[in-house]
Amino acid sequence: MNHPLKRIAVIGAGPGGLTLARVLQTAGYNPVVYEGEASPNERQQGGTLDLETDSGQKALQIAGLLESFYQICRFEGQSGKIVDKSGKVYHDDTHDDTADEVPGIDHYSRPEIDRTVLRELLLDSLRPDTIQWGYKFMQAIPVSDHQYELHFENGKTDVVDLVVAADGAFSRIRPLVSEATAEYSGISMIELNIMDVANQFPELAAFNGPGSVIALADHKGIIAQLNGDGRIRVYLGFRAERDFLDIVDIPYDEPEKAKPQLLAMFADWADELQKYITSANGAITPRRIYMLPVPHTWESRAGVTLIGDAAHLMSPFAGAGANLAMLDGAELALSIINNDDLDTAVRQYELKMFEYAGAIAAETKTNMELFFSDNAAAKLGELMNSYVNQ
Ligand SMILES: Cc1cc2nc3c(=O)[nH]c(=O)nc-3n(C[C@H](O)[C@H](O)[C@H](O)COP(=O)(O)OP(=O)(O)OC[C@H]3O[C@@H](n4cnc5c(N)ncnc54)[C@H](O)[C@@H]3O)c2cc1C
Repeated sequence: MNHPLKRIAVIGAGPGGLTLARVLQTAGYNPVVYEGEASPNERQQGGTLDLETDSGQKALQIAGLLESFYQICRFEGQSGKIVDKSGKVYHDDTHDDTADEVPGIDHYSRPEIDRTVLRELLLDSLRPDTIQWGYKFMQAIPVSDHQYELHFENGKTDVVDLVVAADGAFSRIRPLVSEATAEYSGISMIELNIMDVANQFPELAAFNGPGSVIALADHKGIIAQLNGDGRIRVYLGFRAERDFLDIVDIPYDEPEKAKPQLLAMFADWADELQKYITSANGAITPRRIYMLPVPHTWESRAGVTLIGDAAHLMSPFAGAGANLAMLDGAELALSIINNDDLDTAVRQYELKMFEYAGAIAAETKTNMELFFSDNAAAKLGELMNSYVNQ
C-alpha cells in the first residue's frame, strides 16, 4: 500500500460506489464519495435484490459485511415460480426459509435484501464524513497526466489522483474513456406496487408466496416480487417503441384510472395474474430499459475508471447489475490495495472486470430475448429447472 495518500474520488453513492469506499476505508485509505442527491432519503431506492454468492455476497465478504448481511437478508425471498398467461407452472421452487430441504437449492445461494436495507448496511459501515451529499458532478478537467479537477453543480471543485465513475446508467464520466452511450433496449416496463398485501389481499399473497412470480406469454410479462416491507412490487414488461410510454396516455399518477388500461394489455391472462394489476394500490412508475453495447470495453486512461452501471449497464433480466456493481467496487479496491501504482491497479481491475462483466452482460442480453420470445415461460422454466438439477 504505497499510495494511501493519493486522493481518490468516487462519484455516486449506489451499491458500487459505497462498496468501493468501504473496502478502501477498511484498508486505511480516505476516499471521498460525491453524491448528487441531497441526503440518503431523497429518493425511494426501489425493489429487492438477490445477492449472488460469486458477486454481491463475495463483495460483501471482501468488505467485511457478509455476516451482517446474513442477519438481515431474507432467505425465503429467493424462491419463485414461472408460469404462462393461463397460470400453468413451468418451474416452482417456492419454499420457506428451509431451503436446504429443497433438492439442488443452496440455502445461501441468492438470499434477498431490499435495496434500502442494503444501502443502510453500506452507509452505516462508512465513517460519517465519507459521503459529500448534494455534490452533483458536472465535469472533469485534466490538470496533469494523472490528475483531474472535478467540478460540481454547487460550485465546489476538487483535484484528485483517481476519479471513479459510480454514477450509474447515464454516467457523466463515461465520455472520458468511451464513446458508448446507454441505448434503449426495446423493452419498456410499468412498475406497480401492492402495499400490505398479506392483510389486504391474502389470496394474492398466498398465490405469490414468499419470493417472486414470473408470468410470461405473448412477448409480455408480469414479474412480481414480495419485498421486505410487505408490498409486492410488480413489473409489467413488454416490447415497445422508445416513446410508447409517453404517447400511450396512461395516467400514471392516477392509479385507479390507469388500471383499466393496464388490464386491457393483459385481457386474456388468468384471473390470479390480473389481480397483480387490479390490486395495485401504490405508485405507478413507467420505466424504459436501457443498456450499453455488449461487450463494453475501453482503452485504460490514467486517473479515471468506471464501475457498475457506468461501465456495463444491462437490462434487469438476469438480476445482475447491482451484484456486479458491488463486485466491481470490491475488485477495484483490492487492485488499488495490492498494487504500488494507481494506474496499474486501474488497468488490472479493468481487464478482469471486462471478462466477468462481459460474460454476464451477454447472458443478460440472451435472457432478455428469451423473456419476450415465443413460449417464453416454457423456455425459462426449462432453463431454471436445469440450474436446480445441476
Ligand atoms: C427495474 C430494475 C430492476 C432491477 N433489478 C435488479 C436485481 O434484481 N438485481 C440486480 O443485481 N440488479 C438489478 N437492477 C440493476 C441495478 O439497479 C443496477 O445495476 C445498480 O443499481 C447499479 O449500481 P451502481 O452503483 O452502478 O449505480 P446506481 O445504483 O445507479 O447509483 C448511482 C448513484 O450515482 C448518483 N449520481 C448519478 N449521477 C450523478 C452525478 N452527476 N453526480 C453525483 N452523483 C450522481 C445517483 O444519485 C446514485 O446514487 C435492476 C434495475 C432496474 C431498472
